[in-house]
Parts: sequence; C-alpha cells; structure tokens
Amino acid sequence: MADFIQYIECTHGEWKKAVHREIEAADCILLYIAPKADKFPVIKRPEAALPYFEQYYDAPFKNLSTGVGLLHEIAYIDRLGKIENTVAICREHESKYIWELIGKNSWQGISVFTRTVDGIRATSSRLLAPDRQLARLQGAAGIVAFTDADLTISRSRFARLLRRAVKAALGRHHTQPRALRQGWQSMVGVSPTPRPLPPDYQLKIISHTDVENLLHIPNGNITEMAAEQATSRLNRRAARKGCPTCGAGLSNLFFYINGLGNDEPDQTIWAKCQNCMAYLMVENWRLLEV
Ligand SMILES: [Zn+2]
Repeated sequence: MADFIQYIECTHGEWKKAVHREIEAADCILLYIAPKADKFPVIKRPEAALPYFEQYYDAPFKNLSTGVGLLHEIAYIDRLGKIENTVAICREHESKYIWELIGKNSWQGISVFTRTVDGIRATSSRLLAPDRQLARLQGAAGIVAFTDADLTISRSRFARLLRRAVKAALGRHHTQPRALRQGWQSMVGVSPTPRPLPPDYQLKIISHTDVENLLHIPNGNITEMAAEQATSRLNRRAARKGCPTCGAGLSNLFFYINGLGNDEPDQTIWAKCQNCMAYLMVENWRLLEV
C-alpha cells in the first residue's frame, strides 16, 4: 500500500498552504469525514421552549462535529472550485448524520426554517461556522459509506460505489472562479495590495491575517483593519465579552472597513466572527450585532 501513497512533509505552520497546493493539483479529492469524539452529536431542532424563528438566534450553538482542521479543508476545496471533484467517505452508521446536516442546510450552510401550523421553525440546531462547511459537501460528486466488513474484502459494495463516485468526480469539469487563474497562491497569506478573494471574488485588502486562517471573509470591497487598532476602540467590558453573539474571544474576530484603502479615518469598523459568522460593528466603544 505504501507504494501508492505519497506523503507530503511540511511544517505545522505550512500545512494549510500545502493543502491548497495539493487541492489545486488534484483531479479528485477523497475526504474522510469522522467525528472528533466517539460519535457525531445528535442533530436536533432547538429545544421545545426555543423552537421558533424569534428565539432561534438566542438558542445555544451545537458542538462542532469534527476537527476544525478538516472543516477548514472543506472551505479550501470550495474556494479552489473543487467541491464537484470531491468524494466524501464516512462510516455507514455516521453517514445519516452527514446527510442530515447537508440536507437541513442550504448551499452556503445558511440556517433553514420551515413554516408549520404553529409558526416558523428552524430545521436544525444552530451551527457554528466551521460546521456549516460540512453543508457545502452538498455539491460533492458522492458521499460513500463503508462498514468494517467492507474493509476485509476486495470486491465489496463500498469499493464498487467508491469507484463509481471517483469516476463521476473525474468526469466533472469544475467551475473554477476566474479569479483563481492566478493560482492557489493568491488564496493564502497576506497582501498589502487588493486581490480577488472569496466568497464573491471582489477585490479585498487583507494584510494582517493569513487568508487561510479565515473561514469567513466578508463580501464586497473591504480592507482589513489591524486587530490592535480596532480593539483600541472598545471599552474594557466589550473587549472582555468578545463576540456578543457567541462569546468567542476577540482573537476570533476579523475587523475591517468597507472599501479599498484607509483614506477616511472616521469610517465604521465592522467585524465578522469566525466562530459564529455574526456581522458586528464597533459603536460607542462597544461591539453590536447587525
Ligand atoms: Zn461569534
């Protein structure tokens, strides 16, 4: 088996760049999805006391399904336009969870609600930003499940289904964003000059945070603001509280201003929480959800 596997050696600080490079070069990506703990958490609607649209955004978030590293990789596959060339692999008894997560969330992993006789209800628990990445596998070439027995025989049902899914992935012409013609290098690191970046591939100046460390980049033309500069505009209480939506610390917030460049000193400072995706703004020394 070792003859068929090429391991990529890289430092801890470089693995995200290496993953970008390999995803771009690959014709087909196989992604093994497994829970971080022993099993996936149960997907359930918010508790009976909090079932409706009005209370949904106050409901607690669901625990993360799997390691944040793997969930980041799904974001990279998406950014590099390779979801259609991806086949996800999971254990049979865990596939139900993945299908449910994908089925209950729209393409962007946005919360979904359904109208019932009692009112508008959420279809699942509130998902943190990394878990929403799993929902992006909706566009994958296949999700193939295996059992322990499948691994002991060469002509298993799993092998047949996997072969079929890989063939489908290889046959798909991925819809690579035009901005990606510059290569994966434009999707990583910092840059003092504007570059087209996901999710909308409009020009953005991200010059303080490596792009590969951001799960959610705001739409439109934006310019990152240094965290120290932005947090100096918060009072001590607001700084201690962090994200007013999920309670994540300030290090989870991506601060920016609209437009390219920093010509107007009085511009509104915005923030995008990388943990819960909330849009925030700095006003009167506080962070407010918008
Ligand atoms: Zn948050």
